[in-house]
Amino acid sequence: KDEKPAKPGFFGRLMGRKDTKVVTRRVLDDDMLEQLEELLISADMGVDTALRVTANMAEGRFGTKLSTHEIKELMSTEVTRIMESVAKPMPLYPRKPQVVLVVGVNGSGKTTTIGKLASQFKAAGKSVVIAAGDTFRAAAVEQLQVWGDRAGVPVLTAPEGSDPASLAFDAMVKAETDGADLLLIDTAGRLQNRADLMEELSKIVRVIRKKDETAPHNTLLVLDATTGQNALGQVETFQKLADVSGLVMTKLDGTAKGGVLVALADKFGLPIHAIGVGEQIDDLAPFDPEDFAKALTG
Ligand code: GDP
Repeated sequence: KDEKPAKPGFFGRLMGRKDTKVVTRRVLDDDMLEQLEELLISADMGVDTALRVTANMAEGRFGTKLSTHEIKELMSTEVTRIMESVAKPMPLYPRKPQVVLVVGVNGSGKTTTIGKLASQFKAAGKSVVIAAGDTFRAAAVEQLQVWGDRAGVPVLTAPEGSDPASLAFDAMVKAETDGADLLLIDTAGRLQNRADLMEELSKIVRVIRKKDETAPHNTLLVLDATTGQNALGQVETFQKLADVSGLVMTKLDGTAKGGVLVALADKFGLPIHAIGVGEQIDDLAPFDPEDFAKALTG
């Protein structure tokens, strides 16, 4: 990736020069900390998390002289430390089918992510069924069918406007009959009417629990990383609507502002199961804290 979150020449300016390759050292003082905070905030880390990161960087080092390399290392170490606690693949259970409810606002990448997940699980030898639970968006259902075909996974659909909970129930029956390992359920992402959406999601949960009282086993919230700080509000909202168990962060290929992942980790501590790095079926990767920290700090 050639995109760097840091503004070009940031570290050069920080050190008072253009050429960062020349090794000079600068005292870690309030002025430097302020500039570092600004850098992190401009990468969408949010004020609270940026302050915590810089405070940790300064601990025991205030007033000492640091090189650009050392500053980057310190920053990268801090970010890695925060992110290591949330980098966890989606847990798999011996349950058949394991029911994965996928939630998130429209446009976040839910459909695409479900297609990618189906393909990955299939490649890992799992049998998968998809339920196109956003029955109000004909386009979403069609898209999901396209993804299902690509992944070679059956997609259960229902007529436009029909009850997503009854589709979810039918999908449970089909997944059970087929002996499927995983059932991925897409859901609506219309936040305009939260009460409706909450009712819809809780009805899906109620109905699938008639078949398996332990379901859903995972509730994945899909978040678009390019929405920056909005992602924080979406977590808060969806935690009220559903029992979110983990995150998938999409569109990390298209943003220089991945700092919001650090803010999310710092604030909610929800596991990040995977990241979307493109629009193709294979563009879903495990979240690697060290790679992420290096990309973020430049
Ligand atoms: P949904 O409305 O939440 O189901 O969102 P979609 O799955 O339809 O995705 C919305 C748009 O985002 C589509 O154009 C996708 O191709 C695109 N998209 C989804 N995930 C990624 C990703 O990881 N990277 C990029 N660059 N685009 C993505």
